[in-house]
Amino acid sequence: MLRTTIAGSLPKPGWLATPATLWAPWRLTGDALVEAQRGAVLLALKEQEVAGLDIVPAGEPSRPPFVHGFLERVEGVDFTRRVTIGIRADRYKAEVPTVTAPIRRRGPIHGDEVRFARARTTRPLKFTIPGPMTIVDTLADEHYQDRRRLALEFARVINEEARELAALGLDVLQFDEPAFNVYLDDVAAWGIEALHRAIEGLSCKTAVHICYGYGIKANVDWKATLGEEWRQYEKTFPLLAASRLDQVSLECANSRVPVELLGLLRGKDVQVGAVDVATNAIETPEQVADVVRRALSYVPPDRLYPCTNCGMVPLTREVARGKLHALVSGTALVRRELGAS
Ligand code: ZN
Repeated sequence: MLRTTIAGSLPKPGWLATPATLWAPWRLTGDALVEAQRGAVLLALKEQEVAGLDIVPAGEPSRPPFVHGFLERVEGVDFTRRVTIGIRADRYKAEVPTVTAPIRRRGPIHGDEVRFARARTTRPLKFTIPGPMTIVDTLADEHYQDRRRLALEFARVINEEARELAALGLDVLQFDEPAFNVYLDDVAAWGIEALHRAIEGLSCKTAVHICYGYGIKANVDWKATLGEEWRQYEKTFPLLAASRLDQVSLECANSRVPVELLGLLRGKDVQVGAVDVATNAIETPEQVADVVRRALSYVPPDRLYPCTNCGMVPLTREVARGKLHALVSGTALVRRELGAS
């Protein structure tokens, strides 16, 4: 019970990109870059094992800004046609490529990385890829001109990739959908439908990560406009509870999300964010334990997975390491209270 995991990313090591910087360019190219990314996977797994995490992601060292790591391998997405648009309902500007033709996966995208990670840890392995709605929101589109249709096309492409990754021995495949917290009507209209298409026929557990974003200024400012209680999840969780996804990864630590909203996810595994990624302050075990205890009022212990609010890529390695240890030791406090080891 109370098995620990993290949302996905860890800080990129200095040999790969400038540390503690969200959108840092790669320091290497070609084979040297791939070799450096494999080193970062190994480091991510090791850091998590040393800290005592139970379910370990590969740390996302092959994902450059946003969702572009995936898109670079998709035909029909033109990276020479970059435009700056407002994304997440114009919360911030991003330079994005343009869809100019029918989309098609050029070939395996993350297979080698998952194969590498699987061979180097005996712990349950989690892997993360962007979800269809978040991809659609991080693109300009001249071809389909219809967000639902484009999302369903991406879901088909994602599903091809996802089936291959699951077959390599993944335990959990997570789709990152921060856009689910922005376009609440679209989640109901086609967001879940697109995820269902993305998970079709998968042999591993499936998760969706829905957060309020990294701790960058645009997100912090946005959160300040959301009022005393953040109730975005209230609309989405009942849809997810009725969905075929197995797990939901959500933000809870230091947030204004009313904890009782977790009760809307009955029947699902819940990765509860018990560590804040928007601050360099390292949580005390007691602070982590407090979030886990409150979540336990709404989620049974065998369905509750103490986790981080979001990815840790913008943090320094030292801070991230501290937060991993806090997550594990805080969870251990609660496990003892429940009479588990
Ligand atoms: Zn997130």
